[in-house]
Amino acid sequence: MTTTSEKTTHPALSAVPLDLYLDGAWTPAASGRTFAVENPATGETLAHVADGGPDDARRAVETAARVQDEWARTAPRERSEILRRAYDLILARTDELATIMTLEMGKPFAEARGEVAYGAEFFRWFSEEAVRIAGDTTTTGDGKNRIVVGRVPVGPCVLITPWNFPLAMGTRKIGPAIAAGCTMVFKPAPQTPLTALALTEILAEAGLPKGVLNVVPTTDASGVVTPWLEGGLARKLSFTGSTGVGKILLAQAATTVMRTSMELGGNAPFVVCADADLDKAVEGAMVAKLRNMGEACTAANRFYVHRDVADEFTAKLAQRMSALTVGDGLAEGTDVGPLIDAAAIDKVRALVTDAIAKGASVAIGGDTVGASGHFYQPTVLTGVPRDADLASTEIFGPVAPIFVFDDEDEIVRVANDTDWGLVGYLFTQDLDRAFRMSDRMEVGMVGLNTGLVSNPAAPFGGVKQSGLGREGGRVGIDEFLEYKYLAIPKG
Ligand code: NAP
Repeated sequence: MTTTSEKTTHPALSAVPLDLYLDGAWTPAASGRTFAVENPATGETLAHVADGGPDDARRAVETAARVQDEWARTAPRERSEILRRAYDLILARTDELATIMTLEMGKPFAEARGEVAYGAEFFRWFSEEAVRIAGDTTTTGDGKNRIVVGRVPVGPCVLITPWNFPLAMGTRKIGPAIAAGCTMVFKPAPQTPLTALALTEILAEAGLPKGVLNVVPTTDASGVVTPWLEGGLARKLSFTGSTGVGKILLAQAATTVMRTSMELGGNAPFVVCADADLDKAVEGAMVAKLRNMGEACTAANRFYVHRDVADEFTAKLAQRMSALTVGDGLAEGTDVGPLIDAAAIDKVRALVTDAIAKGASVAIGGDTVGASGHFYQPTVLTGVPRDADLASTEIFGPVAPIFVFDDEDEIVRVANDTDWGLVGYLFTQDLDRAFRMSDRMEVGMVGLNTGLVSNPAAPFGGVKQSGLGREGGRVGIDEFLEYKYLAIPKG
């Protein structure tokens, strides 16, 4: 372990700050400790980042609480323009940010560029929402009082993000928090702090006042987050990550009765009906399965294909997936990058082994690639029994298990037979069937003849154990606002 934040030699990282960001200043951890950030494609250490601890966390949340009142009184237009400037700055640095993301997370460079555009759009969207926060007025039933309802910021927010979308998961929370007038303490995932720190620098450059955003990368998640959730200064938790961790944080947030938004895991069904346009279904499957190497909460996890079209769909999907190039995300022509770490590879390997042991066949793939890095082959499994572990576990890898079905009612029941309910995909050309089945699917989002639902203009989120609340869309800002009602007797 080193004791000071170390600059990396990689040119794209040379401008990234490596310290904590507290009260508007880049600051080493109080302990002096740092941690290494690795490139999952090569194992190379990219940088050493300040490793925040409980003392830094307390300082961060005290700062956020101290500046909350002043920040809440900032003109909405001012908050809007900070976001708009940050949007422009992000886009101007697309290649730099995309390179940072590919280096620390592994996704192919073209996909990382796509995430920059997607992530930046949350800032543009919420810059537009910042000046449209409205309340209403009514009169009591007896006509004696006015009811004036306003919207006020919820207060200091705790933001916690995963590693799989290092930029967009941050902007999806920071955007509405700034628009609403909330201050923030932010803990990015330890695998991908560099993108978060580069984003923080951009926000500072865009004019975000000091103390509004405080950023604490750490390897001691609980040590940092516990004072935020149990200390009584923060008023809101916005978390994106696994359902298991989400449950722990919900329990902690309950100790101070915090507002919560929880974007948790998924187990998306991808249903191909007999009347589907199969080329569109295969195209959708490629996106829903392989975006981010399958490491997405929205990733299609279970492919349910009608028996009449199962062979044709499988052959087309296998043909498309076997043509993909696996490699370092920065290398020319790479379609599928490495998984995030060795544990991710072990998990995918175990799930595939279990499915095969229970009777599945490997149509393509089924193994790791190369001796170094964490690469897994794009894989299609057929004849997968419904009790295979991957039917009830987030695969988080480029593996498409295909299950055959015969009956619409049956498949809706099977698709819903899971604790999760984030997204479902449905391919059919029959409009009645499309509405009938999507009405019955227990999910927050349905991709109807498309493999991509994420968009800053849409309310993203799930039901059941996939979470609480929505991010993005017209309702995204509501998660960061409280109602305040004034009772006024009529004169
Ligand atoms: P994770 O293990 O739940 O971690 C998410 C974040 O929580 C990380 O920053 C992590 O830091 C932190 N964390 C873990 N334990 C904590 C604790 N006890 N107290 C405070 N913070 C804690 O998830 P992940 O592996 O990073 O991400 C993958 C998961 O996220 C998948 O389940 C995926 O479906 C989900 N996800 C959901 C959405 C959505 O919008 N619904 C979007 C993207 C990802 P440490 O790593 O240091 O523990």
